[in-house]
Amino acid sequence: MSGLRSRMRRFLQKPGSASLDRYEELLPDIAAREEELRALDDAALTAAAAEATDDVGICALGREAARRALGERPFDVQLLGTVALLSGQVAEMATGEGKTLSGALAAAGYVRRGHRVQVMSVNDYLARRDAEWMGPVYDLLGVSVGWITQTSTPDERRRAYAADVCYGSASEIGFDVLRDRLAISVDDLVTAEPDVILIDEADSVMVDEALVPLVLAGSAGAADSGQEMAGIAGRLLPRLHYEVDDERRNVFLTDAGTRVAEQALGGINLYAEENLGVLTQLNVALHAQALLQRDVDYLVRDDRIQLISASRGRVARRQRWPDGLHAAVEAKEGLRASESGQILDSITIQALVRRYPVACGMTGTAMAVGEQLREFYGLEIAVIPPNLPCVREDEPDRLYLTAPDKEDAVVSQVAGTHATGRPVLIGTLDVAESERLAERMSQAGLSCVVLNAKNDAQEAAIVAEAGTRGAITVSTQMAGRGTDIRLGGSQGASAHVDGAREDGAREDGAREDGAREDGAHVDGAREDGANVDGAHEDRAQADRDEVAGLGGLLVIGMGRHASSRLDDQLRGRSGRQGDPGGSVFFLSMEDELITTCVPDAEPVAGDGPDGRVTDPKADWTVGHAQRVAEGVHLQIHRDTWRYNTLLEDQRRTVLQHRDDLLRTDIGLRTLAESFPERAAALRESVPEDVLTEAARQISLAQLDHAWAEYLAQAAEVREGISLRALGHGPNPFGGSLNPLQEYNREMTRLFTQFRDDVTALTGHAFQTVTITADGADLAAGGLARPSATWTYVVQDNPFGTDFGRAVKSISRLLGRH
Ligand code: ADP
Ligand code: MG
Repeated sequence: MSGLRSRMRRFLQKPGSASLDRYEELLPDIAAREEELRALDDAALTAAAAEATDDVGICALGREAARRALGERPFDVQLLGTVALLSGQVAEMATGEGKTLSGALAAAGYVRRGHRVQVMSVNDYLARRDAEWMGPVYDLLGVSVGWITQTSTPDERRRAYAADVCYGSASEIGFDVLRDRLAISVDDLVTAEPDVILIDEADSVMVDEALVPLVLAGSAGAADSGQEMAGIAGRLLPRLHYEVDDERRNVFLTDAGTRVAEQALGGINLYAEENLGVLTQLNVALHAQALLQRDVDYLVRDDRIQLISASRGRVARRQRWPDGLHAAVEAKEGLRASESGQILDSITIQALVRRYPVACGMTGTAMAVGEQLREFYGLEIAVIPPNLPCVREDEPDRLYLTAPDKEDAVVSQVAGTHATGRPVLIGTLDVAESERLAERMSQAGLSCVVLNAKNDAQEAAIVAEAGTRGAITVSTQMAGRGTDIRLGGSQGASAHVDGAREDGAREDGAREDGAREDGAHVDGAREDGANVDGAHEDRAQADRDEVAGLGGLLVIGMGRHASSRLDDQLRGRSGRQGDPGGSVFFLSMEDELITTCVPDAEPVAGDGPDGRVTDPKADWTVGHAQRVAEGVHLQIHRDTWRYNTLLEDQRRTVLQHRDDLLRTDIGLRTLAESFPERAAALRESVPEDVLTEAARQISLAQLDHAWAEYLAQAAEVREGISLRALGHGPNPFGGSLNPLQEYNREMTRLFTQFRDDVTALTGHAFQTVTITADGADLAAGGLARPSATWTYVVQDNPFGTDFGRAVKSISRLLGRH
């Protein structure tokens, strides 16, 4: 979209939000069909659904199917959400508004319009829960549904993807895409052609996790231990030998440090061109030493490093830092190096989403990232009003001088609230903080549940109970959890959660019997459209009313997040569906957000002995810090995206070619053209189909091998350029060239070389590898594929290389200094 048009639009309506007028006009027509549809029997309903391709028909039939199958008649606002999704928008709907159902009706609608839909869930647990939960609705609508999780077999995956609608987490879908990229036969492919993607918790996936690369790696022997560099880095002293910038994002060797390191490395010149590799390794070791903190950035558990996810604030399973850094941290902690591998290919979640011609999504908080959604995905937002107005009371922030002052205040607030029986949910920013706080609360005689490193199913079950009378729940980052907190506790309402407590343990069977074990409940509901389960429901209602009478759930934030959107996600856990509730954030001037983003904040004084600060200057500082952080993240996203764009384009051409190799005989045709004599000689003894297959396998092996090498080169180029751009060592670009331009120029040159290499290597192999009527002997020709492959998620760029500079420039833009 042109800059002018987008600016114009700002004057015409709320920037970035689509008008709902057209959608609202459909509601009377949808309502008008209700009676007639209720009269149909199930088979007739399914038959009618097969014909419905317009918005009104899809919604009217969807509403009736949901009412029969779940005993939940979709509210008008849920249908507005469905229509927004069907228009390819991101629907902003608050937590607890019933997005799962809105999304399912939209997915079924897309199917009716001839598409195949993938619903991207936040995690495996929710993928399965939602597919099973919505299963009966899909059944009535005549739409087939499948789901994948980490434990699905290739056959199960193929079947799931082949269904009309398939639920899966971003990483599982991404890993399948990656594995398919290395398939050596069409029969091994599991994913379907990308068509429509419907993304749950869209902001979390498309913005917070957008840059996370999913990686497929192959065995390449043991990792270089990095012990030596770790030893050197461990001997260097802060300030004397190295300095850490204010934002704790970069570390620099001082002259003294350089001398010590050079000596330890045998008197080399670290900044000489030929030592760039050594400099990089040392730099990585120093990062591990000085910038990554145990229990904040990672835990050491079972002799392994476990990363703590920055955006979720909890242990991130199956995640690694880039290999060198990961090994450096292992060395720092004296752990044995875990197996490292050669990266065979990787994909960012953003690139994954952009493969789909049609994308749409739903989340409680989209408006705050409207700019990103438009810029990176071309998506518009439709803001759907809540079914019942939100009556949650959001109190102003309470600010304290120091972190201990803040924690004291939180503990006494919790004690006071808990004494009344009102449930409290405390959102902390990191794992260390949640553990510290839990400790302090138990000293104060308050028992609480701490959530930070459990599995998703358990997490969901615990979170679902956070609204029970007297509950105190401490949790890191609530964003993107997808679990609804009912006042009075989850009760029968979340039978799907109960069912999943033993998730994983019972893998199959559940597909048929569904995680909801309340068939009776559903049947009853079909009779009269109401939830009938006698005493059980009455008790749930009484529990709910009791907690509502106490004021509902109180949410306490232990600090503002790096974006106000994440604050809102936390707040949104309270006050769902018109429930009473409250929220309040406790902050301190020592919060990392403030010290990082406003390092030169003006000093403020506390009002009294409790360290409370009410100075308006300080309030301004807090708001400013958050605006700086939001600006910085946007800039980093933009920069990273720019760096990735070229590589993505190159990857696309390579994959197109690879697909041709896989599906056609182009491999043999090309080789026979270049090497007619060899081809003729082979044809004398090798049947044509065997030869075609041999040429295909040789071409694929060489292409994949060269691509992996190329990716490694790309990483080196980028690392080298960013090190030099930081002003260390010889800068062959004269300090004036833009690193991105330089990177693109270098990558364009290397890509040409990569293509030449592939042609040459493939030709060479065709001439030298033994090819008989049994096929090509790839192993003997040195073309064996990796003996094993595995997948992981990289916490790339954990320091945001340019964070410091970005903070300064964003601060300037925002009108300070
Ligand atoms: P969200 O994803 O928007 O936070 P969910 O899809 O998890 O919300 O739904 C929240 C709760 O609301 C669920 O327990 C669901 O059963 C219930 N719900 C959804 N739609 C309706 C409806 N139309 N009538 C009654 N309950 C509903
Ligand atoms: Mg949800």
